Parts: sequence; structure tokens; C-alpha cells
Amino acid sequence: EVSQSHSKGISYEDMEHGKYSDVAPYDLSLVIPIYNEIDSIPKLLQRITTVFEKSRLSYEIICVDDGSVDGSASFLIEQAKVRSDLRVIALRRNYGQTPAMAAGFEHARGRAIVTLDGDLQNDPADIPTLLSKLSEGYDLVSGWRKNRQDAALTRLLPSKIANWLIGRITGVKLHDYGCSLKVYRSELIADIRLYGEMHRFLPAIAFTEGARIAEVPVRHHARKFGHSKYGLGRTLRVLADLLTVSFMQTFLTKPMHAFGFAGLFSIFLGVILASYLAFLKIFLDQGIGDRPLLLLAVVLFLAGIQMFSFGLLADLLMRTYHESQNRPVYRIRQLAGFRK
Ligand code: UDP
Ligand code: MG
Repeated sequence: EVSQSHSKGISYEDMEHGKYSDVAPYDLSLVIPIYNEIDSIPKLLQRITTVFEKSRLSYEIICVDDGSVDGSASFLIEQAKVRSDLRVIALRRNYGQTPAMAAGFEHARGRAIVTLDGDLQNDPADIPTLLSKLSEGYDLVSGWRKNRQDAALTRLLPSKIANWLIGRITGVKLHDYGCSLKVYRSELIADIRLYGEMHRFLPAIAFTEGARIAEVPVRHHARKFGHSKYGLGRTLRVLADLLTVSFMQTFLTKPMHAFGFAGLFSIFLGVILASYLAFLKIFLDQGIGDRPLLLLAVVLFLAGIQMFSFGLLADLLMRTYHESQNRPVYRIRQLAGFRK
């Protein structure tokens, strides 16, 4: 019985058995994107084991190899043969962290999903903290790297600006959008399509869908092995994505509807004017052929119809845009460790 399996501070017994409970045989799915992290993986898996050893939570680890060239994928696939809690999704090439996470989300079967990095910068020991916050009644709990161990000028400063901007634009103020260590109720992200650097906007997107969001301080370690895959370039890409997201949400969809409404209003005015003129003509027997008002009525009516159809087309375009996001953002080379 899934709902009974909790102990030792790792619990979210209040979690409802929603529409995903029958397809979610685990309490928890850990989703970990991996791009050339061969030196960190053994230790990471071991730390996760330590965290869950004393817990009765059922969980699965989903490592998504994002086209590593250092043997990470084959190591993980070998590990999946001896670790029953490990699943591996090996992507065909390097797609980026967001598509890698999307692949993990789509294969996750836990009622809650924990994301963390594969480079040991996030500490699995913080997962219980996130989960107990989740059980206080939140849908998404985000880690906050209060003592972030990254370069100040190239990473911390741009992140500070980005966090502030994202908070301003989306209205969801978090100290640390960029922290990968987060936990989500799985139904929250089941329908969200991810692209670009979007995984970091999940709290903002989830919020617009009514999610209750919390942030808790977590540990952060300096990178011991390998090197960061990102520099200033990513911060710029994040900002670009932020623009697209907010553009889509505020500047595009609403004016599209505005065209439709303006069109309807214009048609309405045209009809009112025309009725007035018709009244003059029919009941008061006035000539209206030379009245400028007649021209105005016709223009309003025709322009209204044009604007209205433009609004319709625009709406269709928006729908098509969203539908077109249906294409997969990644391709899988191999799956390992997935069991019925
Ligand atoms: N990552 C990935 N694909 C990429 C880049 C990064 O799967 O194209 C993974 C990486 O292996 C790590 C996580 O995403 O597990 C975060 O990357 P990184 O540590 O380089 O970012 P940082 O901590 O420097 O922000
Ligand atoms: Mg890192």
C-alpha cells in the first residue's frame, strides 16, 4: 500500500491519490540529468542509497544521460543491471538539461518527482527536508542555495539579476530559480511542455496553474569533478526564454483576444448606426444617401468583420503554435532498468 510507506521524517501522507495514483507505483522518482559526470555518479548513487536506506518510501532513480562522451551512459546501464532502483534513459546526443529533464519526467512513475544535478553539487541528504515541506501542503518545493559554491562574478551576480527579473515578470518571487534541487507533485508537471531553458521557470508556470510553492534552504557543494557546462551564455539564454514566456503569456494571447472583441464592438457600432439610419429612412422618410454617417456605418461594419476574423485567425495560430510543441524535444537511444 503506497500511501502507508513512510517513516523517519520522509513522508507526505497527505498526498491525495489523484488521477495519477494508479499509474504511479512509486512514492518518489528522482530525475537526474547527466552530461559527462562519470566521476561523480558512483558517489551520487551511494549517497542516495544512504538517504533512503532508513526510509520506507518506495522510489526510483531515473538517470538521463544527455549524450555524454565520457562513458557515463555505459556505466549507468551496467549499474542498472545490479541496482533494481535505477533506470537509465540514454539520449541520442546532447540536447541540454531541459530536454534531459523532460525525458526523465515523461518516464517517471512516482507520485512526487525530485530533480537534482548529477555532479554532487546538490546534496541528496536535503531530499527529506524538501519532502517534509511538501507534506505541509505545497505542490512544489524549491531548494535555495543560500551558500552557493559557484563563481561570484560570472554566476552569482547574473543569477541574482535573473532571479529578480523572473520574480518581477512572473510574480513568483524565489531567491533561487536556478537551483536544480526541487520536488514536485507529479500531476503538476505532467502536462507542461518544456523547451529551451524552461525547466527553471517551472515554478512560475506551475503557479499560473494554481500551484502552492515553497522554498527551503539547501546545501550546495563546490564541483569536485568535471566542470560546469554553463557560462554567461546560459544566463543570456535564460533571459531570452523569460522574454518568450512572458511575451506568450501577456503580450500575445491577450491582444489576440482584443482583436476579436474590438471587431465585435465595431460590428455592433456599425449595426447601431445603420439601424438609426434605417429608422430615419423608413419611419421619417428622410433621404440618407448623402449622409457621412452611412459611410461610417459601412466602414465600422466591414472593419469589424475584418478585425474579428483576424482575431479568430490569431487564436487559431496560437493553438497551432502550442500543438506544434507536441514534437519530441529529444530522441532516445537506449532504455535500461525499466521494469513492469
Ligand atoms: N547537464 C545536462 N546536459 C547539458 C548540460 C548539463 O544534462 O547539456 C546536466 C549536468 O550533467 C548536471 C546538471 O545538468 O547534472 C547541471 O549542469 P552543471 O553542473 O554544468 O550546471 P551548474 O551547476 O554549473 O549550473
Ligand atoms: Mg553543477
